[in-house]
Amino acid sequence: MEEDVSAIEAGAARLLGVEVRRLGPLPEPDYAFDVRRGQYSSVAVMRAFAAAAPAGDAKVVGICERDLFIPMLTFVFGQAQLGGRLAIVSLARLRQEFYGLPADRTAFLSRALKEVAHEVGHTFGLAHCPDQACSMSVSTDIRQVDGKRAEYCRSCAAVVRELTAR
Ligand SMILES: [Zn+2]
Ligand SMILES: [Zn+2]
Repeated sequence: MEEDVSAIEAGAARLLGVEVRRLGPLPEPDYAFDVRRGQYSSVAVMRAFAAAAPAGDAKVVGICERDLFIPMLTFVFGQAQLGGRLAIVSLARLRQEFYGLPADRTAFLSRALKEVAHEVGHTFGLAHCPDQACSMSVSTDIRQVDGKRAEYCRSCAAVVRELTAR
């Protein structure tokens, strides 16, 4: 997990052209566990994350090992405050093992970076992008994650660049 998070941090710093700093771990989200679904409520995790995140201007991304859901969906890869600061990404369904396949760390890290880029993009106010290669395109299953890139398309990248420029 440590090495994975370091790799995701480095990838995000490179992709977004920003400095990335690691914050301390948060407690296990037992409070968000839904016994009937065997998953964790994304909204409850986000609420606790919002209470724990430091104040400031920086975007804060929570990396979560647990499988997240919202009531109307089977699962979510992540969640973000649209035009806000906070985003969470679940790693649970990004590993090949989840699908009964042999582990593939390269694929896993690539997927994680795409989902971080996607959720961070929402915090920059970006909506879902019709360009299926853009990381802001919507992913409702792992094939769609694999079909897109971590990079933003030109128009999404322009928005992020403008908002990350100082
Ligand atoms: Zn999205
Ligand atoms: Zn785009």
